[in-house]
Amino acid sequence: MTGTTARDYIVFGSPALGEEEMAEVVACLRSGWIGTGPRVARFEADFANYKGVAAAQVAAVNSCTAALHIAMTAAGLDPGAEVITTPLTFCATVNAILHAGLTPVLADVDPATQCIDPAAIEAAITPRTQAILPVHFAGRPCEMDAIMAIAHRHGLAVIEDCAHAIETEYKGRKAGTFGDFGCFSFYVTKNVVTGEGGMILGRALERIARARILALHGMSKDAWHRFSDKGYRHYQVVECGFKYNMTDLQAALGIHQLARVEANWLRRKEIWSTYQQAFAELPVERPAEPAGDTRHAYHLYTLRIDPRRCGIERDVFLQRMHEAGIGTGVHYLSIPEHPYYRQRFGWRPEQWPNAMQIGRETVSLPLSAKLGSTDIARIARTVTEVLA
Ligand SMILES: *Cc1c(COP(=O)(O)O)cnc(C)c1O
Repeated sequence: MTGTTARDYIVFGSPALGEEEMAEVVACLRSGWIGTGPRVARFEADFANYKGVAAAQVAAVNSCTAALHIAMTAAGLDPGAEVITTPLTFCATVNAILHAGLTPVLADVDPATQCIDPAAIEAAITPRTQAILPVHFAGRPCEMDAIMAIAHRHGLAVIEDCAHAIETEYKGRKAGTFGDFGCFSFYVTKNVVTGEGGMILGRALERIARARILALHGMSKDAWHRFSDKGYRHYQVVECGFKYNMTDLQAALGIHQLARVEANWLRRKEIWSTYQQAFAELPVERPAEPAGDTRHAYHLYTLRIDPRRCGIERDVFLQRMHEAGIGTGVHYLSIPEHPYYRQRFGWRPEQWPNAMQIGRETVSLPLSAKLGSTDIARIARTVTEVLA
């Protein structure tokens, strides 16, 4: 399509930031405290409140990758223990398992929900399995009843990757509160944005306390508590930790993003429904409707471009959308499509055929709460034209 200027390009995953965020960042700068301090403490308290847990059960960090790494370290698993996860996820899920000195084992997804299939988890269990790492894909909850039953039967830890799932609920219970830990992302494309950022939610207070220490060098007191107006206090290093703390500049964004989390969720739900209706007659597979008694976070809206039905390859579809000034995403090429994992573990994509097929056909359309109805109508029209 001609005539598209850079100004009307719809960027995929562009965050909805408001004046409150901007003012808070400026106030943070003027306060002179831009490191980890009072705004992080407030963001943690607000997040805990949103999730309905105690403030002592959460710890803010600088990414979800960091949250996953620390959660798996604080879960106290044996070195090299196997962790079962999904092949349809961002590389960070698997990398964090490796950073924690553990062994990733993949279990295929359900083709309709695109979440890890409990039967595949069961089939992947060995005497070395010690944890399950489900990803609430696109914001749709995994089958937590089945997953928790497997975990209890085999004595496994559960660490939920909630990067897509801040607003997700399963049978009235919030994502991230089922397992030993839930890990959240505030990366620029996620539902709550701090630029870079993450949160660990832990069930056991002593484990989340350890996670907090691991996130700041293994020190027993953070800088805010060392240098505040209460006077200098000594700290002690109690183990070899990491540098994963969130800063007040990031929390300044997060506080106001979180205040708008439900309004933004409602807007994405509307967009999601508009897409579902607009594409009902097209030869594409749309996402399954959310299951009863669950709450979908509507993080991604994905279509499957099966070339036999659509007469067009997925990558050609991506190119046509780009030419029409619309950014898209792919969530995700399955993990074994990447050379590193193939070489290190000898994995072939065909071993997890559902994830492989989805990864080769899927496309994510823009779903930012910032998009207006004209943008959404233009995206829907372009998809229809490209597939006509
Ligand atoms: C974004 C994402 C992560 C990593 O989050 P960061 O905050 O960027 O580290 C992990 N898992 C999934 C499923 C994600 O989408």
